[in-house]
Amino acid sequence: MRMEGSCNYCGQIINVEANTQTEADEKATMECECGKAKLAQKRNRNISEAKELILSLFPDANEDAPVIVSLHRMVDEIGSGRYSGVSVQLDGCTTCKISRTVKGNIKVTRTDRQQQSYETVE
Ligand SMILES: [Zn+2]
Repeated sequence: MRMEGSCNYCGQIINVEANTQTEADEKATMECECGKAKLAQKRNRNISEAKELILSLFPDANEDAPVIVSLHRMVDEIGSGRYSGVSVQLDGCTTCKISRTVKGNIKVTRTDRQQQSYETVE
C-alpha cells in the first residue's frame, strides 16, 4: 500500500509502497536525496556488490552454504562500518579477506595457498 515514509536522516516525507511504517521510512531513506541518505545508499550498494563478489569468488558454494552465509554476515558488519576488515581462514589452504578501502568501497580477496613438500627417505 502507499504510505508516507520519512527519511531517517533529514525527515523528508516521501510516498512509497510499504507494509509497515519502518519499511516505509527505510524506503524513503533509500530514495531521499540528502547527503546522509546518499551515503547510506552507497553503503547498501557496496554491501550487495560485495556479496555478489563473494559468490563469484566461491563458485562451488551456493548461497545457503554456511561459509557463504557467514562471509555475507561479515560483509554486513564491515559495510556498516562496525569493523574495518576481517580475514578468515576457511580451511587449510584458503583464506578470505574482506576489508574497506580508503574510498569506502568493500574489497574481497580470496587467497589459495598450495604447498607441496617432500621429505627425503634415507
Ligand atoms: Zn534525507
